[in-house]
This record gives sequence, structure tokens and C-alpha cells, in this order.
Amino acid sequence: MAYDFDLYVIGAGSGGVRAARFSAGFGARVAVAESRYLGGTCVNVGCVPKKLLVYAAHYSEDFQQAKGYGWSLGEAGFDWATLIANKDREIQRLNDIYRDMLLKSGVTLHEGHARLVDAHTVEINGQQFSAEHILIAVGGWPQVPDIPGHELAITSNEAFHLKTLPKRILVVGGGYIAVEFASIFHGLGADVKLLYRGELFLRGFDGAVRKHLAEELEKTGMGVHFNADIARIDKQADGSLLATLKDGSSLAADCVFYATGRRPMLDNLGLENTRVTLDKRGFVAVDELYQTEEPSILALGDVIGRVQLTPVALAEGMAISRRLFKPEQYRKVDYRHIPTAVFSLPNIGTVGFTEEEAREAGHEVTIFQSAFRALKLTMTESKERTFMKLVVDANTDKVLGCHMVGPDSGEIIQGLAIAIKAGATKQVFDETLGVHPTSAEEFVTMRSAYSG
Ligand code: FAD
Ligand code: NDP
Repeated sequence: MAYDFDLYVIGAGSGGVRAARFSAGFGARVAVAESRYLGGTCVNVGCVPKKLLVYAAHYSEDFQQAKGYGWSLGEAGFDWATLIANKDREIQRLNDIYRDMLLKSGVTLHEGHARLVDAHTVEINGQQFSAEHILIAVGGWPQVPDIPGHELAITSNEAFHLKTLPKRILVVGGGYIAVEFASIFHGLGADVKLLYRGELFLRGFDGAVRKHLAEELEKTGMGVHFNADIARIDKQADGSLLATLKDGSSLAADCVFYATGRRPMLDNLGLENTRVTLDKRGFVAVDELYQTEEPSILALGDVIGRVQLTPVALAEGMAISRRLFKPEQYRKVDYRHIPTAVFSLPNIGTVGFTEEEAREAGHEVTIFQSAFRALKLTMTESKERTFMKLVVDANTDKVLGCHMVGPDSGEIIQGLAIAIKAGATKQVFDETLGVHPTSAEEFVTMRSAYSG
């Protein structure tokens, strides 16, 4: 049967655009549908605008620290509306680049909501198109627990478009988004309370890293509340909000921001017209080739709920595109050693096993760790301490994990990820010369095992 397209991609986000562009580059006839914004979550309401807001938030510390270096700046003022307008202009520029990139690579762009009609057919804007392969790359959407008053809360989607910066903000959750936005709002001058339901936030990160970040955030004056969860939210007569916690206490706020995870964006996608199934967490179930139960339909990125990071969606897009249209270049995605950063202030950077994971996997481990005040801060009043940790296999000497909390951790961990992927031993780290004077050199100068 002759299909309209070789590949029809639903969703022009990180993974969808990558798969569409590369498939077209390999000679396939490709269409991509996008209902909201080109570039998807990362470009529009995720990584990129978030990082811009993080930069903005960091200036408050920079201004404070500048004093120690002789600068006097007068009273610093901050205007949220200017920040958001400039951010919007930059995102618009990126949207245009994405449009250009897709069209130049020969991809047909359909703007509208796409729906599956059957295993080989997509409907969009009242028209139907057939394709040999269909790729579901629809990403995710914030998920807010169904408590009374949940409609009064906002999520990251809305935070990027607030007209003004609320004065008092409750941030609910203990994952990447909660910690990052708590830092953003706090750095920009709001009174922030971070509420996490468990003992310690950032489940899955190294225990010492979690503890260190909690201490650092508290030092900055942010309210960090563990074992705290909201039972209901009510609007007060003056328009402000009152959050009643599960322990019966209450907190007044101007904004309640929820970052309690993301669900797959399957709304009105027409999965019921196909044999595509969901896994037990509700994400699209795929095999190791990203194939769903419907052989012609594939899925990648946040909608399959494996690792919800842009570089992972990009790698999955590349793998799919190569396997379908350039099989001689096909390589499986390696899900081990995925470096990641939490852009809190200070940042977390991490790659490889946490100490807990390494022990659980049966490794006998030696730990090297260090906490210190960075040289830059010695002439300032900042009490921030940088933390670094290496998890080493005691038998093979292989470095299993590198973890850091401190300025530019995200930048520093990228290089270390290469060393970890290459299988570097602690001896290789030790024999590597430092770059002096930097914080990063501490990763190659930690000599004594940490005994607790
Ligand atoms: P998406 O990028 O979400 O793209 C899906 C696209 O599909 C969207 O454009 C959507 O509009 C479209 N779509 C959905 N349904 C339909 C339909 N039926 N028809 C047509 N189009 C449809 N990751 C990092 O690596 N680093 C970060 O710093 C980072 N920060 C983040 C900050 C925030 C606040 C958030 C929310 C996420 C962040 N992420 C970050 C995660 C990252 O954004 C995602 O992992 C990544 O965007 C997933 O890519 P994707 O292709 O799966 O989906
Ligand atoms: P996460 O899954 O990272 O964290 C969700 C948090 O919300 C957890 O602390 C969880 O607690 C808590 N939670 C879940 N349900 C409830 C509930 N009903 N009530 C109270 N708390 C709840 O999700 P995020 O929304 O922070 O981010 C989604 C994903 O986006 C991330 O996992 C990450 O992959 C990606 N991302 C990456 C970034 C980066 O690379 N820098 C930045 C932002 C997002 P518990 O641990 O107890 O389950």
C-alpha cells in the first residue's frame, strides 16, 4: 500500500523534532504535527526558559557578593515583567528557528491537534494522512493531586507567564521542578516555603547530596519543610490563599505552585483506535525498539516515562530514526551513566551510581567526599559550601558515581560523565592534573577515603 508518509510524528518537542529531522535527512517522507508550540516542553515551558529564570535569580547573590570585591551598586531593583518579556522574545526566536529547521530539512509541518484513527492513519484539522510508521512523541503534562482547592494552584506551565511575581509562594513537591522553582522564586525576592511530603526531598539522588542541598537552601533563608503536605487550599476574602496542611496547621500565601510530577499527555489522542497499551504507571508501553503493541506505532520521550530528560528524548529520536531509515548506523540508547543537573541555587550535578545504588547493586564501595567554601566566596559574606563526592568500587577501583552540589555543577559534571562512561578508575582521577585554582580540581585531588 502507498502511504502518504513514511513517518508521521505526533508532537514537535525534543524527541519528535529530532526523529523527524533525521528521518527526513535519511530520505524518508516525514510529517510532524504540533498542537501547541514548536520545540515542545523544553523550549517553551521547560529547560530553556527555566534556565533563563535561574540566571535571573542568581543575580541577587551576585550583587551581594560583589560588595566583597569592592563594588557598590546602590539598591538593586528587579522587574518581573521585563524578565518575562525578554524571555518570551527569546523563546519566540527559538520557535522560529525550529520552524525553519523542520522546513529546511524537508519535513511537512501540520499545526493542530493530531489524533490516531487506526494503526496507520492520523487525523488533523479534519484531514486524514496515512503513514507506514507513526511516532507518538506527545510528552507530558503537570499533574496536581486532586485536593479541595487544587484549581487555585499553579504549575510550571503557568509560572512562566505570571503577570507579577507573587510575594509569598508555597512550592509543593520535592523533585527537580519544585527545587528549581523554589530557588528561582527565592532568588528573585519572593518569600518561599518549599513543602515536601517525605523526610528529605530529591528521592533517588545521593543521600549526602540531598542533605547538603537542604542545608544550603535553608542557609539562604528559604523555608524548607519536610513531612509537610497540603490537605486543602482556600481563597481568602482579600484574594490571598490559605493552605491547610495535613497536620492541621495552615500557611497563608499569594501563590501555591505544585510540582508533583508529570503525566503522559494522552488527551484525545485516539489510542483506543489502536492496539497501543499503557504500562502500570499509565505511560505508553514500548519494547526496547520503542515499538508499542501496535507494530506500526512507536513512542519516545516523556510519554514512555523512562527518563524524562531532553537529551534522553533526543537520543531515543536518533535511535528510532536510524533504525527505520539508516539501519547501518543504528545504536541502542545507553541508559547507564546519564548525567543530570538540578538547577537549584546552588546546582546539583550528578552522574552514575549514588552510594545507595552502588551498595544495593552489590558493590563494596569506598567514598571520597569533600565540603569546602569556594575561593570566590572567601571575600564575601556568603556561607555557601560546595560539596563533592566520588563513589568508587573498592575492588576494581572504578569510579561508579560523581556527585556535586555547588556553583556550575551542571557544567562540571558533563566532563566527568565522559570519564565515567569511559570506565575511569580512581587512579585515573588521581593521575589527572587539576586546573588550579578551580572548585572542579577537587574531583582529582580527593585522596583520603571518607569514613563517615
Ligand atoms: P515534549 O518536549 O513535551 O514535546 C511534546 C510535544 O507534543 C509538545 O510540543 C506538545 O504540544 C505536542 N503534542 C502533545 N499532544 C499532541 C497532539 N495530540 N497533537 C499534536 N501535538 C501534540 N530536561 C532536561 O534535560 N533539562 C532540564 O533542565 C529540564 N528542565 C525542565 C523544566 C521543566 C519546568 C519541565 C516541565 C521539564 C524539564 N525538562 C528538562 C524535561 C524535558 O523538558 C522533557 O524531558 C522533554 O521536553 C521531553 O521531550 P518529548 O519530546 O518527550 O516531549
Ligand atoms: P519529579 O517526579 O521529579 O518529582 C515529583 C515530586 O512530587 C516528588 O518529590 C514526589 O514525592 C512529589 N509528589 C508526587 N505526588 C505527590 C502528591 N500527590 N503530593 C505531594 N507530593 C507529591 O517531578 P517534577 O514535576 O519535579 O519533574 C518532572 C520531570 O521533569 C523530572 O522527573 C525530570 O525528569 C524532568 N525535569 C528535569 C529537569 C532537569 O533536568 N534539570 C528540571 C525539571 C524537570 P516522592 O518522591 O515522595 O514521590
